Amino acid sequence: HLRLRSALALVTGAGSGIGRAVSVRLAGEGATVAACDLDGAAARETVQLLGRRRGEEGAPRRAHAAFQADVSEARAARRLLEQVQDSFSRPPSVVVSCAGITRDEFLLHMSEDDWDRVIAVNLKGIFLVTQAAAQALVSSGCHGSIINISSIVGKVGNMGQTNYAASKAGVIGLTQTVARELARHGIRCNSVLPGFITTPMTQKMPQKVLDKVTGMIPMGHMGDPEDVADVVAFLASEDSGYITGASVEVTGMRPSW
Ligand code: NAD
Repeated sequence: HLRLRSALALVTGAGSGIGRAVSVRLAGEGATVAACDLDGAAARETVQLLGRRRGEEGAPRRAHAAFQADVSEARAARRLLEQVQDSFSRPPSVVVSCAGITRDEFLLHMSEDDWDRVIAVNLKGIFLVTQAAAQALVSSGCHGSIINISSIVGKVGNMGQTNYAASKAGVIGLTQTVARELARHGIRCNSVLPGFITTPMTQKMPQKVLDKVTGMIPMGHMGDPEDVADVVAFLASEDSGYITGASVEVTGMRPSW
């Protein structure tokens, strides 16, 4: 039973980690995937992984496609939505914002640039993509499901991540407000709060820190990108049809630091 047979899913940050796993999972549920990343080659690699779109009998479907965009730039975000709409002749009914960065530093030493860049990508980027997608959906009268990847750090904080934690807390507030504003248009908006997930983002952390973090996770191990993708697929599908404005923790239980 393919839950996303008729969905067109736009995934940002699709070239790596969680965004790549989400792309694979949504395609596996029958969705056509528009995979976007700042790194266009990485987005194209993801599309290769998805294989060829299986056409419905008698009604060939368009293939998955890759897009390059910097979601923190307003013009690029708008152009991305236009390109997706032009390519598939409809707006994406599922939008998953996974693009995100870290620039860790303790508060006492954090530069203004580290603050600005993380807020620009992680928070403004989600605002821009969500707004452009919502405008496209509302103006064409389509329903949709928007899923924003926040982080448990947005709720509980984390040493060295004032910028990142603030951006992720912002995503939770943005998502709840978008959910309220768009409910009457049949557009749901939820956030997913991963804990520590094994991806290139966390692989760059020192092993000592990773061991310490793992020791604080009640389930005793870090998550896989697929653990997050499973929840995203649920939120994208009608199985979550009465869920909006939620922030779903995928953490192996919140680390107790
Ligand atoms: P990742 O570094 O593996 O992937 C992030 C992707 O986003 C990269 O492909 C990168 O090129 C892309 N990207 C970065 N800036 C961009 C921009 N301006 N425009 C478009 N694309 C851009 O990281 P990941 O671990 O897969 O993280 C995905 C999301 O999940 C992020 O929002 C991250 O904050 C969040 N998250 C990750 C974890 C974790 O433990 N890995 C935990 C909580 C939340």
